[in-house]
Amino acid sequence: MGEDRKHKIDWLNKKGYRGETVNPFHGCSKVSSGCKNCYAERIASNLLAGTGDYRVDDPFAVSFSYEKLDAVGRWKVPRMCFMGSMGDLFHDDIPESFIKAVFDRILHSPDHIFIILTKRPERLTRKQDGERKRLWERLYWPKNLWFGVSAENQEQWDKRITELFRIEGIYRRVVSVEPMIGEIDPIVKMGDDWFNPLSGEVQRTVLKDDGDKVVTTKMLPPMNWVIVGGETGDSNKVREIDADWARLLRDECRREGVPFFMKQMTLKATIPLDLFIHEFPSAFGESMDMFEGM
Ligand code: SF4
Repeated sequence: MGEDRKHKIDWLNKKGYRGETVNPFHGCSKVSSGCKNCYAERIASNLLAGTGDYRVDDPFAVSFSYEKLDAVGRWKVPRMCFMGSMGDLFHDDIPESFIKAVFDRILHSPDHIFIILTKRPERLTRKQDGERKRLWERLYWPKNLWFGVSAENQEQWDKRITELFRIEGIYRRVVSVEPMIGEIDPIVKMGDDWFNPLSGEVQRTVLKDDGDKVVTTKMLPPMNWVIVGGETGDSNKVREIDADWARLLRDECRREGVPFFMKQMTLKATIPLDLFIHEFPSAFGESMDMFEGM
C-alpha cells in the first residue's frame, strides 16, 4: 500500500501509491514556446549548478546516470513516479542504449507506475537512413509505463499527439497541457480528414479509381489521461491560462469518458470550483472500465 505523504505534483498522488519524481537523466534544450520559462532549466541554474552531476559552467547540459536508474530497483513501497522532470528522455544527446535501459528498468519494476512525458515524440516515430525499424518499434512498452507528450497550444497538440498515436503498444497515453498558453480544440484536422484523440476516432476521405470519394472511419485506442495546468514561476514572465480553455478540454474529456486532471491555474491561483477535478486512469490489474476521481 502507498503512504499518506502527498507529493507536491498533485497528479502523482494516486490512491495506493507514493508520489515520486526521479531524474536518472537531466538537462535539455528548448524546442517550442512551452519551453520559454522552463522550470527545469531554472532549478538547474539557480539551485543545482555545481551539485551532483549538474555542471557549474553548464548546469542544463544533458546528462544521464545508470547508477541513479538502478536505485529505482530498490524501492519497496509502490510508487507513482514521474521519471524525468528535469529533462527530456528523447533529447538527441541521450543515446538509444540509455533509453532502452530506462524501459528495461521500468519493465522490471512492475509494482510501480512510471510516467514519462516528452516534447520530442518524433524521435520515436521517424525512420533514420538505413534503419529497418523506428525507435518505438525497437522498444518494449511495459504496462506500468504511462507515456505521453506535453502540448502547450493547438500547434503542439496537433503535432505531438499525431506522433504519439503513431506509437503502438502504449498502455496509457497521456497528454500534459502545461503550461497551457492557448485555446485547444482537441480535434486534429488534416484537410477534410480529422482525428479525435479523446475518442480515438479517425475519419478519412479516400478518392477511388472512378473519382468518387468515400469517407472511412476507424477507431484507435483513445487518450487515457488529460492533465491541464497554468504556468508557474516568475510572476513577471508567466503567461495566463484562461479558465475557459481548460473548461473546453474538461467538457470534451467528459463527453468521451477520458480522465481529466486540473493541476493548477497560473502561478497556482485558486482553481475555479467547477474545474477542481482530479481524475486518474486505472492501473494495470485495476478495474479496466473505471477511473478514479475525487
Ligand atoms: S523540453 Fe521540457 S525540459 Fe526541455 S527545455 Fe522544454 S520545457 Fe524544459
